[in-house]
Amino acid sequence: MEIEIATIGGYEEVGRQMTAVRAGDDVVIFDMGLNLSQVLIHDNVETEQMHSLDLIDMGAIPDDRVMSDLEGDVQAIVPTHGHLDHIGAISKLAHRYNAPVVATPFTIELVKQQIESEQKFGVQNDLIKMAAGETRRISDGVELEFVNVTHSIIDAINPVLHTPEGSIVYGLDKRIDHTPVIGDPIDMDRFRQIAREDNGVLAYIEDCTNASKKGRTPSEAVARRHLKDVIYSMEDYDGGIVATTFSSHIARVKSLVEFAKDIGRQPVLLGRSMEKYSGTAERLDFVEFPEDLGMFGHRKSVDRTFKRIMKDGKEKYLPIVTGHQGEPRAMLTRMGRGETPYDISKGDKVVFSARVIPEPTNKGQRYQSERLLRMQGARIYDEVHVSGHLNREGHYEMLDALQPQHVIPAHQDMKGFSGYVDLAAKQGYKLDRDLHVTTNGNTITLN
Ligand SMILES: [Zn+2]
Repeated sequence: MEIEIATIGGYEEVGRQMTAVRAGDDVVIFDMGLNLSQVLIHDNVETEQMHSLDLIDMGAIPDDRVMSDLEGDVQAIVPTHGHLDHIGAISKLAHRYNAPVVATPFTIELVKQQIESEQKFGVQNDLIKMAAGETRRISDGVELEFVNVTHSIIDAINPVLHTPEGSIVYGLDKRIDHTPVIGDPIDMDRFRQIAREDNGVLAYIEDCTNASKKGRTPSEAVARRHLKDVIYSMEDYDGGIVATTFSSHIARVKSLVEFAKDIGRQPVLLGRSMEKYSGTAERLDFVEFPEDLGMFGHRKSVDRTFKRIMKDGKEKYLPIVTGHQGEPRAMLTRMGRGETPYDISKGDKVVFSARVIPEPTNKGQRYQSERLLRMQGARIYDEVHVSGHLNREGHYEMLDALQPQHVIPAHQDMKGFSGYVDLAAKQGYKLDRDLHVTTNGNTITLN
């Protein structure tokens, strides 16, 4: 059976991930993501109303025209987890394929919400839930399996396409976490088993985000401990404390909510995406929040909450808000600009349970947001965070567990691949023989 891999998006950037694998006559697409930085750089771009081709030209969504080079029928579209750089283009591209979207329950729910807010295209693809550990038949001899992995969003998996020629493991995105705060540890046993089955692993497509960083990515349990230390240290402070983190990072939000309670403050989630992700996670029973936890997304209810906080006393609350990257329209940025009823006073604490995404736009916006907060006297607690991506030793562990015949670095640009290429070369892989460094819009034929 001929196996071909199309590297469609996310091979020249972190964002707009999309890869297709053809096994004989059948094609499975992994991820269909958005490159948010290409959207945010334009003011007032409403992607909901935009056409696919315009978004492709902007570099915001994958240029899937290379799909016409693949001689086969698409049988499934498989997003690995709910981050926008993996699901954000489904509403713009999925309707071109007569295939269901197959993903874990939390991811499917986020895809559904995205399709519902789409205004340009009617997306009719079936949405099929498949849990980690389950398999689905694609065709004779070809099967799709979901292996549980750990990442900065719940319900993440690595899909594995079993073919008669060996398995294709699509490794985006993960870290090796044996003590995640929500959900099961990464299923390393299953990866090792897959390496030993039949023809082993034919190809491994890997998330190279942090491949140039030494050592091991710490567990979410470490971030939780760090966060606990920071929040507990503020127990005697009688002014305002505000925290921000990735709204899709449910484990982190859960820790923040718990520690706020521990120091006698009422946590409250503010901002549209805070309400969206945490509300969805709670509805699907991934997390149990205190019954009195308020979540507010709409401007009016947010303002009302801030007014109540100012009236009751800031020392009684801990708002958990959007804006960890200094996004101009996010809550914390608006608080810094004095656009909300919440007054930041001298000595108030602001906790960033996040890292600045190392990209000039983010860095600039975050700098500006922090400046505004500092000008009002806020004390900043930065980088209370661990990454969701593997560092070098994690990559080494994965290569050791899977023993793939071919490796394909992804989820970075050419410069970002270098750390991974270096590691793989030291493990005996050779460029253009079994180590395939590529760009967007190419195909690789494996046998
Ligand atoms: Zn991700």
